[in-house]
This record gives sequence, C-alpha cells and structure tokens, in this order.
Amino acid sequence: MNAFTYLRAEDLRTALQEVAGNGHAKFIAGGTNLIDLMKENVERPSRLIDINRLALTRIQPNAGGGITIGALVTNTNLAYHEIIEQRYPLVSKAILSGASPQLRNMATTGGNLLQRTRCVYFYDTATPCNKREPGTGCAALHGINKNHAILGTSEHCIATHPSDMCVAFAALEAVVQVTGPNGDRAIPFADFHRLPEDSPHLDTNLRPDEIITSVDLPANGFAEHHSYLKIRERTSYAFALVSVAAALELDGDTIREARLTLGGVAHKPWRDPTAERLLQGQPATKENFRRAAEVLLHGARGFGQNDFKIELAKRAVVRALRQAAYQTDYHFFQTVQHGPTRANAADQGENA
Ligand code: SF4
Repeated sequence: MNAFTYLRAEDLRTALQEVAGNGHAKFIAGGTNLIDLMKENVERPSRLIDINRLALTRIQPNAGGGITIGALVTNTNLAYHEIIEQRYPLVSKAILSGASPQLRNMATTGGNLLQRTRCVYFYDTATPCNKREPGTGCAALHGINKNHAILGTSEHCIATHPSDMCVAFAALEAVVQVTGPNGDRAIPFADFHRLPEDSPHLDTNLRPDEIITSVDLPANGFAEHHSYLKIRERTSYAFALVSVAAALELDGDTIREARLTLGGVAHKPWRDPTAERLLQGQPATKENFRRAAEVLLHGARGFGQNDFKIELAKRAVVRALRQAAYQTDYHFFQTVQHGPTRANAADQGENA
C-alpha cells in the first residue's frame, strides 16, 4: 500500500474543496471495497477524505411520493428500514442477498453504486487489464471468464458490475442525486453506470469532483409483485452468476406494467424496456415470460467459460417473473414481518 494523507471532512463543502483539483484524492466511507483495492495496489490515492461525518444518513419521504435515501445510509439500515421493507421489498431482498452482515453494516448506499468489478485480473497487478491500466489489454478475454459479462461487452473489457442493490434500483428507476463545484444534478439510474466501450477504466458518469448525496426511489415500489432472484455458486457471500430483479403490476392475470433487470451479466445493471413493453397487456404466462427473456438476452455473447450464462439468465428471468406474479417474495416478507399470511398459511396446511 502506498503512503497517503487523511482528512475527516465535517461538511459537504469541505469534502468537495478537498477533492477539487486533486486527481489522486478519494472519498472514503465504509471502505469495504476501496481498502481492499489499496492493499492490492490497484487504487493508489495520495489523499483520503473521510466523509462519514456528513449529514447524509437519513431515509425520508420525498416530494414525488417516493423516498430519498442518503448516500451514507448503510446497507443494513436500508434493508431493514420499515419503509423499505414495506414499500420497496425488492430493495431489501437484493441487499440481503449480497455480501455478509459485517460488510452490510459498513457499506453505504453511495459506495455500493461506486464499487468496482470483482474481475480477478483487475485485482492482479501482474496481469494486463484495461480497466486498471488503460491500453494494456484484457486478460479475461481468453482467460478465466466464467463470471464475466455476456451483454454490452467490448473488445476492451468484459467485466461485470458486482452490486445486487443496483439491480433493484435500476428496475425501480431510481435517480442518483449528486453535487459538485457546478452545483447539483440528478442522474437517472440507467445513465449512472457506463458500458466499457473503449474506456473501461470509467465505471460511471460521476465526475471526479462530484459526490453522491442521495438516491431517490419513485413512489411505486412494486411491493406486491416483485422478486429478486440471485443465482450463485454457494448460498451466501458470493457474487451473482446471474441475478434478476422482476416487478409486475397486474390487473387480474393481465400485466399492466413490468420491470426487468439483470445483474451479473454486464458492466452495469442490464435493462431493456423493449422486453418490458412486450409484456404489457399480456397474460402472465410462462410462454410470455420466456419471450421477454429472449428479447432481454438479445445479442448476448459468451467468451467460452461463461457461455452457460445465456441460457441460465433466460431461465432465471422466467422464474423471477413467475415468482413476482405468484407473490412468492411478497408472502415471504409478510411472513417474516407479521407471521403467516392467509395465502401461505393455506400453503403450509396443504404441505402438512
Ligand atoms: Fe480488466 Fe475488464 Fe479485462 Fe477484467 S474484463 S481484465 S477488468 S479489462
């Protein structure tokens, strides 16, 4: 690890002043990813600006009928917050499927958005990696790429974004609020993360002198018909091979609105509104779900070890949509919070 200086910022203005004009300064909050990267010499900041004392820890209703989540709200506090559990259970479920309790206690909302890929070559400074060192090549293209992307890739990088929470945020059309020397701006979630193209060293459209202040969720959390399905190699503390955030508004058996986002398959949460529009006005059937999956995975390409992800993702989409339609996750949350609901009490009776 290289030497660095450290400053604890007491307010937003100081934090922004400290980072301005210093291309080697970094903000630090939970530190659950940055410290690892510093130990591996992947990140080499000359100055760390600790932002943990900034007043960005609240979860509160916003003017649009949704909620505003402060950038420093920890993953644990967000996942177990009453409003999130009741109105945005998709977010709770996604968060609780990621990392470990200890990490979730430290990791923040803003930091989750900014965490970097877990591509093994990105962490290994002895190997070529365009994301770590632009222009050196991509060792994963012909190397170990079982966990890598199948959508939105480029010849320069096939890394995936590792977050679960971001997959739920993308499905719910969250908005990222940021501030910097030129004032505040709002970035729709779909535009926050980037595809690798010819500049894979840039993960997001956040400018180096800006800071995330909050994430806004709109009023509709699709609480009744949602599912977060994460497929991974072990049942805890593993990144997704494929994950799906599915959310439906149903009118009887007919789909009024659908949201569908994939994780673990691209450089950013992968969403294609064409697949969602295909479901609108259609019955909630397995056949229609499969058709949407085919559209969502259109253009998917494997790199050898990760070819299996294409079919896996399609099947995961169908399963997640069925779970959303049948309210599998909804009844799970109701049971955790209030004991068995009428529907799942009946199921338990049937199974007894
Ligand atoms: Fe680096 Fe991206 Fe290639 Fe991984 S996939 S080695 S992060 S350029």
